[in-house]
Amino acid sequence: MRLSGKTAIVTGGAQGIGRVIAETFAGEGATVIAVDMTKPDYTCEGVFGYTCNVTDRDGLKAFVADIVGTFGKIDVLINNAGITRDGLLQNMTEEMWDLVCDVNLKGVFNLTQLVAPLMIDQGTGSIVNISSVVGEYGNVGQTNYAATKAGVIAMAKSWAKEFARKGANVRVNSLAPGYINTEMMKTVPDKVLDPIRQKTMLGRLGEPEEIANACLFLASDEASFITGHCLSVNGGLRL
Ligand code: NDP
Repeated sequence: MRLSGKTAIVTGGAQGIGRVIAETFAGEGATVIAVDMTKPDYTCEGVFGYTCNVTDRDGLKAFVADIVGTFGKIDVLINNAGITRDGLLQNMTEEMWDLVCDVNLKGVFNLTQLVAPLMIDQGTGSIVNISSVVGEYGNVGQTNYAATKAGVIAMAKSWAKEFARKGANVRVNSLAPGYINTEMMKTVPDKVLDPIRQKTMLGRLGEPEEIANACLFLASDEASFITGHCLSVNGGLRL
């Protein structure tokens, strides 16, 4: 029970990687708040579904107040909600750029700005920003997405420094998945995925459980001397 007694928020917790992170954390003893655009339907013990859009700062304020009122504290924050709106640079509209930045980058800023002070006050906490291999290396057709996913790595490093200066044991890391079998990947054609499988040393896409297990490690006290780090979980894609 590596998260026994901890309260964790997972954004984008209705499906995909976020859903498996929420279930994995609950299985390790955490009380998990899975928050998403539409209320996540969980039958899993220990997971509570909430509705909130990470771009809605007023909505997030009410959400965090509600969580603190109900559960008393927040120990772990997983900034997982993310979207894509792909296109080559010349075809990328301002709307595509703004939407991806609003959710993937500003959404992480919005919620962390509300949760981090609570963690600093209580003296402990662990935050994980879900990035992407694309944030580490860039990708054709993903100017907006790559910029945001590189951004959340830089934000984690900045916050790791800031919070340590405040003398709090609040760790902030990022996790960069390779290509993982989720709804997001279902829109990607095989002609794109086949070369990715070939370039991945382990010869396949990853499973959400493999990301959730790595995230559990970073969130838990097992990673107690790790902060400001970006953990790549990509099957050897870039070796
Ligand atoms: P999914 O699209 O399956 O799930 C993302 C969830 O986030 C959805 O439930 C979505 O809700 C929710 N969401 C979107 N916008 C908001 C918002 N504004 N506020 C709250 N929730 C929101 O994605 P994955 O599980 O595949 O990805 C999870 C994270 O992992 C993302 O950050 C992604 O960038 C990252 N990642 C994924 C990879 C992959 O191969 N799948 C690879 C590398 C990184 P709705 O469906 O209603 O929009």
